[in-house]
Amino acid sequence: MPALPPKLKAIVEGGLCTGCGLCAAMTGNTALRMVLSEEGFLRPEAQGDVAPETDDLIAQVCPGAVVRIDEHDGHFDPDWGPIVELSTGHARDPEMRFQGSSGGALSALLQYLMDSGTVKGIAQTVVDPNDPIANTGQLSRTKDDILRAAGSRYAPSAPLEQLTELLRTPEPLAFVGKPCDVAALRAYARHRPELAEKFPVVLSFMCGGIPSRAGALAILDKMGVDPKELTDFRYRGQGWPGKARAVTQAGDTHEMTYAEAWGDFLSSRVQLRCKICPDATGMTADIVCADAWFGDERGYPLFDEAEGRSLIIARTVRGQAVLEAARTARFIETEPATLEDVGRMQPYQARRRRLVLSRVAVLALLGRFYPRYRGLRLVSAARRTGPLAHLRSFAGMLRRSLTKRSALSR
Ligand SMILES: Cc1cc2nc3c(=O)[nH]c(=O)nc-3n(C[C@H](O)[C@H](O)[C@H](O)COP(=O)(O)OP(=O)(O)OC[C@H]3O[C@@H](n4cnc5c(N)ncnc54)[C@H](O)[C@@H]3O)c2cc1C
Repeated sequence: MPALPPKLKAIVEGGLCTGCGLCAAMTGNTALRMVLSEEGFLRPEAQGDVAPETDDLIAQVCPGAVVRIDEHDGHFDPDWGPIVELSTGHARDPEMRFQGSSGGALSALLQYLMDSGTVKGIAQTVVDPNDPIANTGQLSRTKDDILRAAGSRYAPSAPLEQLTELLRTPEPLAFVGKPCDVAALRAYARHRPELAEKFPVVLSFMCGGIPSRAGALAILDKMGVDPKELTDFRYRGQGWPGKARAVTQAGDTHEMTYAEAWGDFLSSRVQLRCKICPDATGMTADIVCADAWFGDERGYPLFDEAEGRSLIIARTVRGQAVLEAARTARFIETEPATLEDVGRMQPYQARRRRLVLSRVAVLALLGRFYPRYRGLRLVSAARRTGPLAHLRSFAGMLRRSLTKRSALSR
């Protein structure tokens, strides 16, 4: 079996691969291919020799090695990144709002981009028809395609694996991916300028991390469903937040609340790189959406079922123009929001970002491979929390790193 080239190997063995699939695409999915690892994450596997110059380029664009923001539009908030417009809102189409993960805002923006002719297709992630808990890429062309892809899928996805095929299509496309997928696409575009033309609009969502496939299997186990009997599986959506829902060959439906599925089965199985993510709020996208959770009296999010509502941040002038046009064309309805609202809706995101530096410091101190983060204002974010929180996060990361060496290779 051929070996991974040295730089990529350091990233993967350091537990820093996000599973985006860009490295595989950079070899035309020949020398490298994305496969499911034993731990249930998508990882590159060598099928042949990778040229040293390709390995060098991978190390410059892989989000496990580097995340960079060179320039940005609007105000840069240390917790939330570049902001041109801050809103909450939802798809005007009730079916889209219902199918969507939160308010179907991403799907509504995509529908607008298609109907207005801004793009001729959308590269997005959908359920794998051969494996209902897994994901695959889809080039959407119709409203039905967009609706099929709506709803978050808390399982590994490698949307950039298809980049070679996407580049062969003649028209401009929109791209939707996790923040790390988008950061990788933007980094690669610095070396391949045609990518900016190919993907004139890039959308993302805030991300709590990618859980292993083991998370979905644990949900099925709790539901008493044999994975072999499964015909359909949704992680959420169809309501807000919507339930995890498994349908079997016998026609039985089993459900679990979002709070239980994410809280008890998925969040504890997130890969290491996500725990030190400096960009889980999608700072390099044109527009990012998230759950606009309502909080309790202490400000902590409630996960009660309600009519869907997305938090929408236009991060670039271009993104803001798309949002404005989609609003005018009545695809989406929005209300202005403030930074204080965002802090109340997404307290975990701010807390994690403030602690990224103390966690990465552990990797550096132990002489392990660690990602280089540039232009992300992590020092300003770190200053927003006290020394005790940093000390605790440093100690927790150190303990995990020393006692669970295997966790680093996930
Ligand atoms: C792994 C993961 C973790 C998340 N963590 C958080 C979080 O911590 N906080 C938060 O507020 N929101 C989080 N979200 C995002 C949130 O669930 C919604 O996507 C967001 O609120 C936008 O909802 P919407 O109704 O506007 O999007 P929709 O209209 O439902 O559109 C969802 C879009 O996301 C794409 N998508 C779904 N799953 C994946 C995937 N695995 N990989 C790539 N693309 C995918 C679909 O193709 C679709 O285009 C997460 C999503 C995922 C997939």
